[in-house]
Amino acid sequence: MTTVDLPLLPLGRGTDPLSERGVECPGDLPPASDPDLVARALAAKEALGDRVFVLGHHYQRDEVIQFADVTGDSFKLARDAAARPEAEFIVFCGVHFMAESADILTGPHQQVVLPDLAAGCSMADMARIAQVEAAWEAMAAAGVQDQVVPVTYMNSSADIKAFCGRNGGVVCTSSNAEVALEWAFEQKGPDNADTKVLFLPDQHLGRNTAVLKLGYSLDDCVVWNPHKPNGGLTPEELRAAKVILWKGHCSVHGRFSPDVIDELRAKIPDLNVLVHPECQHEVVLKADLVGSTEFIIKTIEAAPAGSSWAIGTELNLVQRLATAHPDKNIVFLDRNVCYCSTMNRIDLPHFVWAMENLVAGNVVNVIEVDPKTEQEALVALQRMLDLPGKSHRD
Ligand code: SF4
Repeated sequence: MTTVDLPLLPLGRGTDPLSERGVECPGDLPPASDPDLVARALAAKEALGDRVFVLGHHYQRDEVIQFADVTGDSFKLARDAAARPEAEFIVFCGVHFMAESADILTGPHQQVVLPDLAAGCSMADMARIAQVEAAWEAMAAAGVQDQVVPVTYMNSSADIKAFCGRNGGVVCTSSNAEVALEWAFEQKGPDNADTKVLFLPDQHLGRNTAVLKLGYSLDDCVVWNPHKPNGGLTPEELRAAKVILWKGHCSVHGRFSPDVIDELRAKIPDLNVLVHPECQHEVVLKADLVGSTEFIIKTIEAAPAGSSWAIGTELNLVQRLATAHPDKNIVFLDRNVCYCSTMNRIDLPHFVWAMENLVAGNVVNVIEVDPKTEQEALVALQRMLDLPGKSHRD
């Protein structure tokens, strides 16, 4: 698949018809009002049998997740796909970077299908390879590049993972970010110099991990803004920094705010606040527990009946947790509805469209990473798998 390098179009600012790339579906996209969609999806799945393996991310809509053979976070799903070599088609109900990771980790005989190519990730789009290469050059000009170890969150495009692979860096998830940063700081620059970390693309996960887990100060962290000359940083600031945070964030987790935590605590006695580390530092500081999607699910499963929880993660997951645990008082940590809009692009009509095309012998919306990128990204992924200890789930 060829990708077009389009600038990020912030929501609500003008229109860009090209940003709707991939939305058109050759043939008929069934209308959402079609009462037979569930039956059609079931029939297509049955017709394909073991030839198809359907992956469903935790943040997907219920109407789609009901057809998933497995559910999980992005890394677990990619590994689940790799463990199913007999499946010709991996239908990934998630977003683009996840489908890329599945393609990297599955065999060449397997094809990964994303039911709607417009299901991207705003965070992953905030670090584009040309911007990252420009930052890397600026770090060379400031005389620090050979001390910098790039670390990228799983939630990044394949070419950013490949950048980390070819420059001595590593991939991390929200579960193993601490171990990945420790590993990066243990590497040595020229003449045994201490290293710095360039953390991509989520500034919040990078800051929360460096400060709250590894004991660095906020002053040890600087933010590289790709929209400013030289990232908005002087060479002196780059030289003094321990952690260079890329100015990216998740548009879902970045919304939660500390004042809502105060409001909810005032209303709900003995409230436990449980948030994802992609939330802002000020939110994480006020929370009782912080952890990955899998951690959030396990924490709620283990919580005593009658306990109260405000959860700061994607709303589809929070709603499913509330439905699955009616004996616990579970509320969402935002005043407004807060779905991941790109995850929600994968709806039942697109799922049915993709599956029925597979039945008819048309493989649509294939996500294919080019061999060089795949090889370099695998280097960074393998370094992550070789990290000691912790789970690799995000
Ligand atoms: S929830 Fe955030 S990080 Fe996850 S896909 Fe949506 S925008 Fe990207």
